Amino acid sequence: MSSSRNFQIAVVGAGPAGFFAVDALCKKVPDTTVSLYEKWPVPYGLVRYGVAPDHPEIKRVSRQFDKIAGWSGFRFFGNVTVGRDIPIQDLQSCHHAVILCTGAPASRTLGIPGETLPGSVTAESVVGWYNGHPAGFEEGPPLDTETALLVGHGNVAVDVARILVAPPGFFSKTDIAKRSQKALLESKVRKVILMGRRGPVQASFTAAEIEELAGLEGVSLQVDPKFLELDEENRSLLEGREATVQRRAFHALARVAEPPGTPAERIIEINFFRSPLELFGGQRVEGVEVGLNCLVHRDGGSMARSTGEKERVACGLVIQCIGYRGLPMSGVPFDNGRGIVPNHSGRIDGMRGAYVAGWLKHGPRGLIGNNRKESADTVKSLIGDLGNLPQPVVGPEDVHRGWVQRGVRLTSFDDWLAIDQKEIALGREGGKPREKFVRVEDMLSHLVPG
Ligand code: NAP
Repeated sequence: MSSSRNFQIAVVGAGPAGFFAVDALCKKVPDTTVSLYEKWPVPYGLVRYGVAPDHPEIKRVSRQFDKIAGWSGFRFFGNVTVGRDIPIQDLQSCHHAVILCTGAPASRTLGIPGETLPGSVTAESVVGWYNGHPAGFEEGPPLDTETALLVGHGNVAVDVARILVAPPGFFSKTDIAKRSQKALLESKVRKVILMGRRGPVQASFTAAEIEELAGLEGVSLQVDPKFLELDEENRSLLEGREATVQRRAFHALARVAEPPGTPAERIIEINFFRSPLELFGGQRVEGVEVGLNCLVHRDGGSMARSTGEKERVACGLVIQCIGYRGLPMSGVPFDNGRGIVPNHSGRIDGMRGAYVAGWLKHGPRGLIGNNRKESADTVKSLIGDLGNLPQPVVGPEDVHRGWVQRGVRLTSFDDWLAIDQKEIALGREGGKPREKFVRVEDMLSHLVPG
């Protein structure tokens, strides 16, 4: 072992959960070397590729990550996919512990007939497209249609709706990918329907995001007033102490929503108690058959139940925004139903010295800042095990050398800083904060050969 530090710990995934895990380690176990491994050549995960381009205030958390990266025990190794380029056993051989923070990158889907038709896409591909994700979302959703239907009432659906109806030029000063900026300027979409299976009290979007939608120039946010009349059950749910977020969102919606039919250049219609049953069309999506629901309140929850009634909605684009799931990694147990790694307080079931944090630990919920405490909780479990961790049998440098010999081109944090500067310079030419490289080859082509 070449390091004079007592512990070697690997963190996999350089998004918020990964950086907050590094932060907790550097504060609580300072005699540690923490190596942060990342699939892409660049760090920040969800902050770079998930947060909407017009939300720079949320992206600002990356400045905290930069500070964390300045800690003397920190190492960054980008452009290496654990479980594909290298087995997790390589990391276990040269670290006392491994913490997986690879998030929930894959969209959940409804699994209904017609969803493979052209014109049916997922939030993952649309968000990846406008955020310049390098995973090959170059084509983007077809925007040659007047009406788009978004399934789901979360903040991701609201982000996507805002991107689709924002006035031309709205994104010109953001870091939206150039390809998407151009396509949105030419977009024919004039109406976005946000469809949810339950009612306005159960929606998971938040008040600020609803107000932001309604505040877009030339956009009318419309809700049929019948949806905003609450029955006794929903009224008491909304008044409950735990319902603060829902209460604010409901009142925001009631305040800003206009009735259907209000004339506007672009319209967002939010409807409730509806589940897509089938997408229909010949060469591409032409519409959706929708089942109507009622709510059943049981065991403290409110579930959608079909009433048996149906309706048809014409649209040329359907985007499923019904949440995300983690992806399995070879050699690591996986709960396929929940899309997470099974664990107890962050300790991966049946794997000594292996931990999990973030959305891969508990599913895709919560804001970026919530990861601080949640990653610290996993690190607390690890600290409780410090006296009982497996010993590394080889040094990380030897293992890295083996990868490089096998053709892995690792990137360092300095490499990221060079890419960062280049992107900022490219953005400046177009009056944007940055222009992201959307292909790995382009990121690497700006680096000194490694
Ligand atoms: P989400 O908040 O969990 O919303 C998912 C939506 O999909 C819910 O309305 C859910 O309805 C619906 N859904 C799930 N399964 C369904 C099915 N089988 N049929 C019909 N509808 C279904 O997830 P998200 O929007 O992906 O967001 C993930 C997390 O990131 C959230 O914590 C969110 O707040 C956060 N986020 C925050 C921001 C921001 O701060 N601006 C932006 C984006 C994301 P049910 O409730 O009925 O299950």
